[in-house]
Amino acid sequence: MSISPLMPVYPRCGVRPVKGEHCHLIDEDGTRYLDFASGIAVNLLGHSHAGLIGAIQQQAETLMHVSNLYGSPQGEALAQRLVDKTFADTVFFTNSGAEAVEAAIKTARAYHQHEDGDGNRTELITFTNAFHGRTMATISASNQEKMHKGFMPLLAGFQYAEFDNLEHAKSLMSDKTAGFLVEPIQGEGGIRPASDEFMHGLRALADENDLMLIFDEVQCGVARTGKLYAYEHYGIEPDIMATAKGIGGGFPLGACLATEKAARGMGFGTHGSTYGGNPLAMAAGTAVMDAVANDEFLAEVTEKGERLRSRLEQFIGNYPDLFELVRGKGLMLGLKMKVESRPFFVHLRDNHQLLTVAAGDNTLRVLPPLVAGDAEFDEFFDKLSAGAASYDPAG
Ligand SMILES: *Cc1c(COP(=O)(O)O)cnc(C)c1O
Repeated sequence: MSISPLMPVYPRCGVRPVKGEHCHLIDEDGTRYLDFASGIAVNLLGHSHAGLIGAIQQQAETLMHVSNLYGSPQGEALAQRLVDKTFADTVFFTNSGAEAVEAAIKTARAYHQHEDGDGNRTELITFTNAFHGRTMATISASNQEKMHKGFMPLLAGFQYAEFDNLEHAKSLMSDKTAGFLVEPIQGEGGIRPASDEFMHGLRALADENDLMLIFDEVQCGVARTGKLYAYEHYGIEPDIMATAKGIGGGFPLGACLATEKAARGMGFGTHGSTYGGNPLAMAAGTAVMDAVANDEFLAEVTEKGERLRSRLEQFIGNYPDLFELVRGKGLMLGLKMKVESRPFFVHLRDNHQLLTVAAGDNTLRVLPPLVAGDAEFDEFFDKLSAGAASYDPAG
């Protein structure tokens, strides 16, 4: 037997964290890493946030799980807060981002397959280099062949248009089109914000043709960009939205949000999840909302994002051969490199104890916990500068 007990789907690195302290991770051999990856935009309150820990501890002692057969005071309260703070009228809780996107896809299809709808409208237009998760529907929603290989056939009903290209999206529309599924800021694709014109154009196309506009805010949502949700930067609203990652602060939680109109097909018995929205997850989500869903916190993220960004812009000027530009919003930033970003990310991790995330388009993702402050930013630039100075792209 040579297969590892953990199914070998991840090329795991030598960092083996056993403890987290605020913005740092501590390895099993005691090495401290500065964590500007945040579990890929998950640990937005860092690793030892008293409010989040207390809420989970208290709920675990009180009631951990009950079936969705019963009433849910905890779920109703968190759903009401999300409804109050967003475009949405209704919320379905999941345990992950992919499940939230799955629920969004089902909601869009059910909108058209409702008795008042046009049941031929079954296709979603999605965008190149998107990432929506690893289930069959969510890999089918992405054009990335490396995620498809070995898993054919894909789920039918997705057309891929070029990201940020409204004319291309328009050219793929037909009487089968059900809607659009897009990340307002592509995460895995390389921290690429969609343009205003593109987002407004999609909203207009959806309005004119009675289509569903779905935002995948699994990575860019939950205060990461300085707004509770990134769509607020654009001044338009989706019909349906998937959220996850940061929303549980590290506890597995996601949600599909929708307007009343968009959710018309999602009646009794149409969807479900054993764990989705259980009291423990609701306690974690409520603690995260308590911390981030207020103007002061969001303004701080915006202000820190601006400071980090301008320091990054100054910094890359010192290394014109390595870095091309800085992009993103708030504390969801990407350094587009002129050389491959993955080996540089490995160099920062292994030689300078700085954790970031590599992404598509030769981008290095900088995703600090939203509670990081000047001390952590100073440490980040110390490590990044040392890393850039000691880096030889030729290996
Ligand atoms: C991470 C991610 C997902 C998938 O979330 P999981 O929790 O891994 O299923 C979906 N969409 C986007 C934009 C993501 O970044």
